[in-house]
Amino acid sequence: MKTNEFIEDLRSRFPNEPEYMQAVEEVVSTIEDVYNEYPEMERYNLLERLCIPDRILTFRVSWVDDKGRVRNNTGYRVQHCNAIGPYKGGIRFHASVNLSILKFLAFEQTFKNSLTTLAMGGAKGGSDFSPRGKSDMEVMRFCQAFVTELWRQIGPDTDVPAGDIGVGAREVGYMFGYYKKMAREFTGTFTGKGIEFGGSLIRPEATGYGNCYFLLNMLATRGIGIKGKRVAISGSGNVAIYTAQKLMELGAKVVSMSDSSGSIYVPHGLTPEQFQFIFDLKNLYRGRISEAADEFPEAMEYFPGERPWKHVKCDIAMPSATQNELDGDDARALLAQGCIAVSEGANMPSTPEAIKEFIAARILYAPGKAANAGGVAVSGLEMAQNSQKLSWSAAEVDTKLRDIMADIHSQCVKFGAEKGSDYINYVKGANVAGFMKVARAMMAQGIL
Ligand code: NDP
Repeated sequence: MKTNEFIEDLRSRFPNEPEYMQAVEEVVSTIEDVYNEYPEMERYNLLERLCIPDRILTFRVSWVDDKGRVRNNTGYRVQHCNAIGPYKGGIRFHASVNLSILKFLAFEQTFKNSLTTLAMGGAKGGSDFSPRGKSDMEVMRFCQAFVTELWRQIGPDTDVPAGDIGVGAREVGYMFGYYKKMAREFTGTFTGKGIEFGGSLIRPEATGYGNCYFLLNMLATRGIGIKGKRVAISGSGNVAIYTAQKLMELGAKVVSMSDSSGSIYVPHGLTPEQFQFIFDLKNLYRGRISEAADEFPEAMEYFPGERPWKHVKCDIAMPSATQNELDGDDARALLAQGCIAVSEGANMPSTPEAIKEFIAARILYAPGKAANAGGVAVSGLEMAQNSQKLSWSAAEVDTKLRDIMADIHSQCVKFGAEKGSDYINYVKGANVAGFMKVARAMMAQGIL
């Protein structure tokens, strides 16, 4: 396989999909060597089959707003690969959603799910609908219209959606409820459900907690502890909030958070009172992060329209908002002021230039598909509990989450350890480990 030719061919077929091509290019460039060791893979044209989704569904979602106007959005589900288990991946509701973004997310999800060691294929879906500023009833009507179109394509052994940006417990509840009504079955077709109707304990916390557990494993390879470390986080949604909560519990200082309007810098680290304010602000009132700086003006500075990276002093960065939110300049700024580790809560938050900087500086750098896999891992555990009609305790789920993150870390070390040095390339490690399992399953199942 010649990487450049392969990438150029794909780019010419999908010319308007930059995020998808960015994700593909990163994976292909790191698995080239191992792929070329198995000529049978090339004979089966396996890489191309793995890069192009199995199926893409696109549909109009018509709904009625509170003023009685009929509104139309576009809905999507990208069923990328089900070689190792039913399609599995979140639903994103955000104005920026398009096919390129969902194809990149579904592609990444396939490798991430493979890394969890659980039987889940990769998928992603969503709509260019934004829940921000909408009433509960508008969100409910939209979710029901979305599921009216989607419900025939999903099921507990076919495709199991979950949350992502703009889709939390409220949206999953509405979608699950409507799915149940249409399908006339009560099964684990969505994950991230409420505890009262089949949700798993620790699922809301899982992505953020899992990222912290992954970080601890990385730091341990260099004999470094987390206590007292200054950690910059971006975002203030599900992933960011529970990352901050776990870090504080572990004795680290959380020095920043953000949303799409701006970021706060907290030089001495968030106090429990300040954290609780932000938690309630985001979870109960759907407020803006600037309101935290208004509430605690002595402790925090607000930077409107800015991401955290250039104006924080930190040891560790955990980008947890969205894709391409940390560029080459941000990476250089972080490195210049002594950042020793980056562990990604979001999917593909660092641009290719930023990743190059981190790897060249040989700091600990964990890509999202490894570091944020805790969320889908606990979704897998939710599916297991649903199919057994059982609920496990929080301690049980948390122990399994820690074990899974340790296992993902070991896989990255196994496939990413650089010969002749003690450096671990986690990007290569995660890609090769994720790829090999899916590739073997596809080879065994023939050309489908
Ligand atoms: P939420 O919707 O709960 O939170 C998203 C946060 O990121 C909000 O603070 C939001 O700000 C901010 N944000 C969103 N888009 C942008 C943007 N374009 N520019 C700047 N800030 C932005 O989503 P999650 O926390 O669930 O997801 C965050 C990231 O983590 C995503 O990349 C997602 O794919 C990834 N992820 C999520 C998992 C999960 O279990 N939820 C699992 C694995 C990965 P605002 O409120 O202003 O929009």
